[in-house]
Amino acid sequence: MRKKIVAGNWKMNMNLQEGVALAKELNEVLTADKPNCDVVICTPFIHLATVAQFLNQDVIGLGAENCADKVKGAFTGEVSAEMVKSTGAQYVILGHSERREYYKETPEILKEKVQLALANGLKVIFCIGESLEEREANKQNEVVKAELEGSVFNLSAEDFAKIIIAYEPIWAIGTGKTATAEQAEEIHAYIRSCVADKYGAKVADDTSILYGGSCKASNAPELFAKPDIDGGLIGGASLKCADFKGIIDAWKK
Ligand code: PEP
Repeated sequence: MRKKIVAGNWKMNMNLQEGVALAKELNEVLTADKPNCDVVICTPFIHLATVAQFLNQDVIGLGAENCADKVKGAFTGEVSAEMVKSTGAQYVILGHSERREYYKETPEILKEKVQLALANGLKVIFCIGESLEEREANKQNEVVKAELEGSVFNLSAEDFAKIIIAYEPIWAIGTGKTATAEQAEEIHAYIRSCVADKYGAKVADDTSILYGGSCKASNAPELFAKPDIDGGLIGGASLKCADFKGIIDAWKK
């Protein structure tokens, strides 16, 4: 059975003290009122080692938002998958549209990152999704399939089982515009069919596919009620404990 997951993506927000305070608050709230799904917080690198020390990892998983496409060495400013793992983190987000666009991360670079993350025992939250122009040209299926083929469909079925897919239409990220639950379900079902074509029905059925893009407590119940939507990757609404908890609680409705 695939997992239901709500993952937060803090992006470049919060200094160390603010981030630690939010993680502590979430830890207390979710330890007292256990979620009905897996919860993960993906934080800037600087928070990981500190947060890992007090997080109740039976209740909240911890992840990074990126890792390097190289093993180690003279790559000033980079943070390797091994370094991420050594902090106590278990997850990493790769392929986020902001990294693809602003940092020119190509499918080939992402393929390297995915392989290094898996080789170091990290689970990968792999983001895919189309731009507004692509959606208007009805190319969303083509785009997501190419993104899967370009960076993760080279993996063995055993490795692919460690991939969580996050479908994030770029036009819905941080814009307040959410895909309707029907639009999201349609493409999630298509993504699952691509996984089935590549790895078979069992693997496809076991793959968690999250929706991301202006997801909040008010729209999460409708999105999560769809059969192929297994949870959310949450940006803005993961920065406040009550907002994030509201989305997590959508799995209790
Ligand atoms: C994201 O960037 O992963 C995201 C889903 O952002 P937001 O929830 O703010 O749209």
